[in-house]
Amino acid sequence: MANMSLHKVPMPTRPPEVRSGDFLEVTTGYTAEQAVEEAGRCLQCKNKPCTGGCPVQVDIPAFIAEVAKGDFAAAYAVISRTSSLPAVCGRVCPQETQCESRCVRGVKGEPVAIGRLERFVADWYNEQVQNTAAHPIHNGHRAAVIGSGPAGLACAGDLLRMGYDVTMFEALHLAGGVLVYGIPEFRLPKAIVQQEICRLQALGLHLETNAVIGRVMSIDELMEQQGFETVFIGTGAGLPRFMGIPGENLGGVYSANEFLTRVNLMKAYLPESATPIHCGKRVVVVGGGNVAMDAARCALRLGAEQVSVVYRRSAEELPARAEEVEHAIEEGVVFRFLSNPVEIVANGHRCVAGVRCVEMELGEADASGRRRPVVKANSDFLIDADTVIMAIGTSPNPLIKTTTEGLDTRSFGGIVTDETGATSRPGVFAGGDAVTGAATVILAMGAGKTAAAAMDKYMRQK
Ligand code: FAD
Ligand code: SF4
Ligand code: SF4
Repeated sequence: MANMSLHKVPMPTRPPEVRSGDFLEVTTGYTAEQAVEEAGRCLQCKNKPCTGGCPVQVDIPAFIAEVAKGDFAAAYAVISRTSSLPAVCGRVCPQETQCESRCVRGVKGEPVAIGRLERFVADWYNEQVQNTAAHPIHNGHRAAVIGSGPAGLACAGDLLRMGYDVTMFEALHLAGGVLVYGIPEFRLPKAIVQQEICRLQALGLHLETNAVIGRVMSIDELMEQQGFETVFIGTGAGLPRFMGIPGENLGGVYSANEFLTRVNLMKAYLPESATPIHCGKRVVVVGGGNVAMDAARCALRLGAEQVSVVYRRSAEELPARAEEVEHAIEEGVVFRFLSNPVEIVANGHRCVAGVRCVEMELGEADASGRRRPVVKANSDFLIDADTVIMAIGTSPNPLIKTTTEGLDTRSFGGIVTDETGATSRPGVFAGGDAVTGAATVILAMGAGKTAAAAMDKYMRQK
């Protein structure tokens, strides 16, 4: 008999007044008893609507049935058939718009907590099971993977398991992409990402960090001089956008990318950090996505007394994960909806003194299907601030395009591929944010896996 509670088993979460002062993980995860109890809410629907909402098609009822029986190793085996980063996805997937949005238990009450269960299973596995993977038998072919975010990690993992000799080139000094430089420790502990990278190294991955492809070597050189027969580009979309308003070059204005990279990758929050960052007491974050939430919550943890998120649409249109918005509000972040900055105001030292905004109202739907915000007449107002963080989106970096012969890209910079990830350059494949622009971890991972299968097919037909 299923557990017919209308509510998910609550996620154990550290109190806001404690967690907003440190970078330790906010949620502490289900215990085995809580996981079994929550798994009991699954009705084991034959047509698996939830699986249809998962970009990598995790067999959700099958893994939950194993959790309900208490066989967590079997549950992990089901998940890992299609997902290579379950400890990551269980934490950061926007489940409310993906798998959980299709769960029938959500019609009346809350959906089954699929993400929390996935996280539980992955954490249980990582704690219990030693990595004993043996090197797969080498198939005699060499592949290069550029970029070590979820797209590159998923692609490299599948290629290694097929027997390829894989070298991954990463521009930064640490592998993991946004998982290490963007998403903060309090949402995704870096040890989890590191564990995944170690697992790939145990399978034979060669990792070259501090290697900016397009600068130290081009893709043409990788293929023509270094002997890589096929290449995957998973370089993400790390080029920040600005609004083009007066004052964006004042002291105290950051792109969210720079701010988060310095906090997370360079560990600026640690007292002994060699690369500290200045964060003022009154911080304005512009934007409404996960990046804006992360920047706002990091600013609080760095000692800001007042953090305002300025977003030009209403609360209903916020693109950030619901859980992150909830946590940000609990921690004291203030939201200024239907507001748009028009100028960053300077003090006498060319530093930020405030942000002048206008009020907005929602007009007709635009191309994205969301109602377009339009400016309300005579609605100027000023928010006092000494730090401004722009989190209004990013684009793919043009470096790879400009240094590779015959690689087609779209007007926003995304690499053109077919549905298998093949680019206009034979043997060169791409996936993740480098193709789509800023998206999600699971979509990037799915693209990496699709491309790995296509690279293998290409090599067999060569
Ligand atoms: P990335 O993760 O960006 O990795 C690309 C890697 O390529 C980077 O390490 C980069 O240094 C490297 N690189 C770039 N150029 C070169 C080069 N020329 N040579 C060598 N290496 C290169 N998604 C979610 O699903 N849930 C969330 O909660 C969420 N939160 C987010 C929070 C933040 C702050 C950000 C920035 C993004 C968030 N996202 C979230 C989006 C998600 O992280 C991305 O969609 C995903 O990481 C894209 O993966 P990727 O592998 O394509 O690129
Ligand atoms: Fe849901 Fe993400 Fe897991 Fe798929 S990978 S089942 S979308 S949490
Ligand atoms: Fe279980 Fe919900 Fe999926 Fe049905 S839709 S199998 S109840 S998780």
